[in-house]
Order: sequence, then C-alpha cells, then structure tokens
Amino acid sequence: MAETSATPGMLYVVATPIGNRAELSPRAHQILATVDLIAAEDTRHSGILLRTLDIHTPQISLHEHNETRRVDSLIARLVAGESIALISDAGTPGISDPGFELVRAARRSGIKVGPVSGPCAAIAALSVAGLPTNRFVFEGFLPDKAPARRRRLAELVEETRTLIVFEAGRRLAPMLTDCRTVLGEGRSVTIARELTKRFEESVQTDLAKSEDWLAADANRSRGEFVICIAGADTPASQRFSVELDTLLTELLAIAGTRQAAQIASRTLGISRNSAYQRALRLAQG
Ligand code: SAM
Repeated sequence: MAETSATPGMLYVVATPIGNRAELSPRAHQILATVDLIAAEDTRHSGILLRTLDIHTPQISLHEHNETRRVDSLIARLVAGESIALISDAGTPGISDPGFELVRAARRSGIKVGPVSGPCAAIAALSVAGLPTNRFVFEGFLPDKAPARRRRLAELVEETRTLIVFEAGRRLAPMLTDCRTVLGEGRSVTIARELTKRFEESVQTDLAKSEDWLAADANRSRGEFVICIAGADTPASQRFSVELDTLLTELLAIAGTRQAAQIASRTLGISRNSAYQRALRLAQG
C-alpha cells in the first residue's frame, strides 16, 4: 500500500476538488502537508485551498507558460531528495491541465512518481451520464473556432465509444449546434454542469433537443461543463455507404477524386480519408 506521508525524492500527482472542498481525500491532505514543495498551476488559487486546510507548505507556480523552463529545476530538487506535490486549479493534474512535461521528465530521470487519486471532472460526468462507460474517448476541449471544431467532430463521427468533451459556458451553444449537424440529431447527450458545486445539474437529452434545453434558461449556460455524447451506433462508413456511393458517382462525373471526396466528406460529415478511399475505389471501377 502507498504511504500516507511524503517520501523523499518522490513526485506526487495530487487530485484536488472540482467543486466541493470535502472531495479532498485525507491522503491528499497528508501528502500536501508533508511534501517539501507544492508545484501549483496558480499559487494564489491553491493558496486559498491550502489555507483552509491549514497547510503551510511552500508553493511554486507551474503553468502552461512556464512548465517547459521550470521542469529542469524541479527535477534537480527531486534528485537532491526533496519531495514535490503537483496540483492544478481543480481535479487531476495533467488532464487538460499542466503536469505532463514534469511527469515525463521525472520518469526519464528515474524519479518515483505516484498518484494521489481523486476528482476528475471527465470521469465524474461520465459516471452519472447514463451512457456506456466500458469504453470511452476523452477529447478535452474541442477547438475554439467553428471550422476547426467541425473538422475535429467530423473525425469523430464514426467513433462508437462514448465521447467526453470539456466546454466553457459561453461556447456551449455553438458547440452543441456543431455536434448536432456533424454527429447527427439522434445521439444521446448528457450535459453535466457545475458538478459537486451549489448549482450542480446534469441532464440527459439528445442532440436534436439540447440547444432548446440550453436556450430555455440563461442560467443553464453558466459555469463549467462536461458533455458526454453517445458513440455512433454503426460506423458512419456503413450507415452512409449507399448515399456515399451515389453522391461520389455523381461527383466523379464532374470533378476529380480529391475534390469529390472533399465535397462528400463535408456533405455527409464523414472523414475525408474514408471518402477519399471510397472515391478512389469507385474511380478505379
Ligand atoms: N484537470 C481537471 C480535472 O481533472 O477535472 C480539468 C481541468 S480543465 C482546465 C477545466 C474544465 O473541466 C472546465 O472547463 C470544465 O469543462 C471541466 N470542469 C471542471 N470542473 C467541473 C465541474 N465542477 N463541473 C463540470 N465541469 C467541470
């Protein structure tokens, strides 16, 4: 069994609450109180949590803008025998949060790395989503700009595993619109908002109705969100095979293979590569 007090020269990846402070485990409390240093995404933000826990361990910042240059000095301190806890603003470090570079460098330097497991918004949402949990795909944040977001969704259209994505309230409406148009109206979707916080809400609907649900109350777009979407029933390449062939045949009569595949992939929301492979086969008779 992993120890509860910090071991010299070890890096701990410590999960912190995503909402309710009581989510911090007793072991996380013990490790944060006994390490030599806490590497925190935002020391001011973490300072508030640490003060409420009566923890006075020194902190150093480790965020997306300084992680690369800070890694070497942190590794040197670990090699010298100091113990370090890595934390982010909320949830599990490294999951759409800084930490990966430090953990990779620690492993490469032969330093022991241990998890102090706990909250993770993606897993918390999945656990209450009412969608298959045996296989799932975590996509983090989808691209900010609509064309890039639609392209990413088009790559996922054939994915049969449950999809998990993070989203900010202000981008939720356009993101749900893109999900409906690219993935199809019929998919079940669970919108999980402000999990473990005061205004926690999670609703299951389908992509056809999700925008109306959101628009019905301005408060519904406030806060932090995880969206879980049912995977495709059947790979789109099979669902659309007849339409794809008909469309491609028409297009190949007036355009080259690449252009025909491009138009078909955009029209049917399937990956450009599978449309191209099919177009090649049809073009070769
Ligand atoms: N590393 C974190 C984790 O393990 O949960 C995730 C960090 S990521 C930068 C922050 C995103 O996670 C938010 O924008 C939101 O999409 C999601 N999130 C975090 N806390 C949440 C909560 N309490 N309820 C719903 N979503 C949450």
